[in-house]
Amino acid sequence: MSLADQATHSSSGGSFLFESHPPIAIPENFDSDVQLMADTAFQFARNEVIPLIERLDEQEEGLMMSLVRKACDLGFGGPDSPEAYGGLGLPKSVATRILEMLSLNGSFSTTIGVHQGVGQMPIALFGTNDLKSRYLPPLTAGEYMGAYALSEEKSGSDALSGSAKAVCDGSDYVLSGKKMWISNAKWAGSFIVFAKVDGQEFTAFIVERDMPGVSISREEHKMGLKGSSTARLILDNVRVPAENVLYHPGQGHKVAFNTLNIGRCKLAAMAAGQVRSALSIGTKYAKERKQFGKPIASFGLIRDKIARSVSSFFAAESMLYRTANLIDRAFASVDPNGNEVEENRKAAEEFQIECSLVKVFATETLSYAVDEALQIHGGYGFTEEFPVGRLYRDARVMRIYEGTNEINRVFAFDRIVKRGLVEKLADASPTTVIHEFLIRGSRAAKDHLGEQEIVACASDLAMLHFASQSANVRAEQLKASGHANSEVALAAASHFEAVATTTAASRLIELLDRCGLSAKVEMPAVSFAGSATVSEAAFEANGYPL
Ligand SMILES: Cc1cc2nc3c(=O)[nH]c(=O)nc-3n(C[C@H](O)[C@H](O)[C@H](O)COP(=O)(O)OP(=O)(O)OC[C@H]3O[C@@H](n4cnc5c(N)ncnc54)[C@H](O)[C@@H]3O)c2cc1C
Repeated sequence: MSLADQATHSSSGGSFLFESHPPIAIPENFDSDVQLMADTAFQFARNEVIPLIERLDEQEEGLMMSLVRKACDLGFGGPDSPEAYGGLGLPKSVATRILEMLSLNGSFSTTIGVHQGVGQMPIALFGTNDLKSRYLPPLTAGEYMGAYALSEEKSGSDALSGSAKAVCDGSDYVLSGKKMWISNAKWAGSFIVFAKVDGQEFTAFIVERDMPGVSISREEHKMGLKGSSTARLILDNVRVPAENVLYHPGQGHKVAFNTLNIGRCKLAAMAAGQVRSALSIGTKYAKERKQFGKPIASFGLIRDKIARSVSSFFAAESMLYRTANLIDRAFASVDPNGNEVEENRKAAEEFQIECSLVKVFATETLSYAVDEALQIHGGYGFTEEFPVGRLYRDARVMRIYEGTNEINRVFAFDRIVKRGLVEKLADASPTTVIHEFLIRGSRAAKDHLGEQEIVACASDLAMLHFASQSANVRAEQLKASGHANSEVALAAASHFEAVATTTAASRLIELLDRCGLSAKVEMPAVSFAGSATVSEAAFEANGYPL
């Protein structure tokens, strides 16, 4: 049974807000075939990528491309791209697991993540059969890489304000403009490019590297992800055939944003792989380093850093596979006799709230985990002698791309309101204290949509509820099935609940005060006792114990 087949009840986007303890898909229920693929991906990252990271960071000629080709030979070039066009045709949840395991190093993670994600997905979801058969087989085989070119110098978060232009000329469009921050630019053979037809109609095109007028500028000098390629794409009167338009002229925003919904879920998987690295590096160092005659792993404050990272990661992982499975089920219900592209668009859109929240939560968990892993290294963490400095630098961008965390926070609550979910939430019976805080906070915040400080508090309450509910339900399911790790999972979920409840209380107090309401919030007793079990298990496992 793959995760996609798990018999969970059907949900619509945002229903986690008011459902009480729904059964959810959990990574422990992946079948043995999926676990084998995930293990192969993990071994590939550990044995083939990690030993090369210094050379990758120096951008040694041909090295990254050859690694990506090796990964493609194992089927990782397009795990969820359609089988008919060279992909493995796997459910998104399985592709997500593979990506998590491939993501132990940030540079490789971004490179393969963009290649198999936003570099291909617009073609798989929105392309005609002709476009799929022209572009997906060489992409999935790793003949060249894929890239996604939305951002420009003056349009980042406000992506639709871009100035790249397309002018219709007979059966072609002529594209001109500059796209900035394009991951994989150096190695890409195809780019998903967004430009405005006649300066008005935002449209998605497939542009080939070899088309006359296409060029790539020098690499950006980045603080991290030095092994990945990030450069500008210059379009100087590039003739692109009209059949290379994805979806419809003037409807490029639907291609861009729906690809990014799923891209955000995948980005959470990329963060997850890097949290695994931080935990294994942090626990190992803490056990080896002695001060005051003992390993620093024996000190409460060091154990607490590991416990918080693990518990938060357990919650992030629980949200991630719950969301990926929901997306799978949305795609599984696509009517084969309907308009495939239109149905794909709806499926990619349905769980946009969950995708935004898991992106924010997983990337902030990563920031916390790498920061504390560095702190555990003391002064040595601040040098280039140890791998933790690279992890720290590589992780930073995760809160910036695929929609900054500010944009995702604003977007998530905006969607909650626009889908009429605040009203449904108001009718729900609170299941936990965080849920009660969320109900109270969202009711107050819905009349203050123009005030971002309030909206962000409401989004955080939704995110903390989603995270703690997912962690608790997963731990209970593990206990019910007698899983070997259920004791650690229950401890992680309860420890996370304590952390999340105290954070949620402070977010609610701020929200109510900013709304001009009484900010009196009754705080229940919470227990941090689970942290001892969690840190013990992590030190024993030399990393993430679940
Ligand atoms: C290493 C790297 C790789 C990248 N790869 C790609 C790629 O492959 N393809 C691609 O198209 N792009 C890519 N990007 C671009 C990335 O998506 C943008 O950097 C991101 O969308 C933010 O845009 P910006 O940098 O222009 O920041 P801005 O939009 O200028 O934002 C600056 C700050 O203001 C905040 N802000 C902006 N608007 C609002 C608002 N309405 N409310 C509240 N706060 C706001 C932001 O959150 C941020 O903190 C990449 C970037 C980097 C650094």
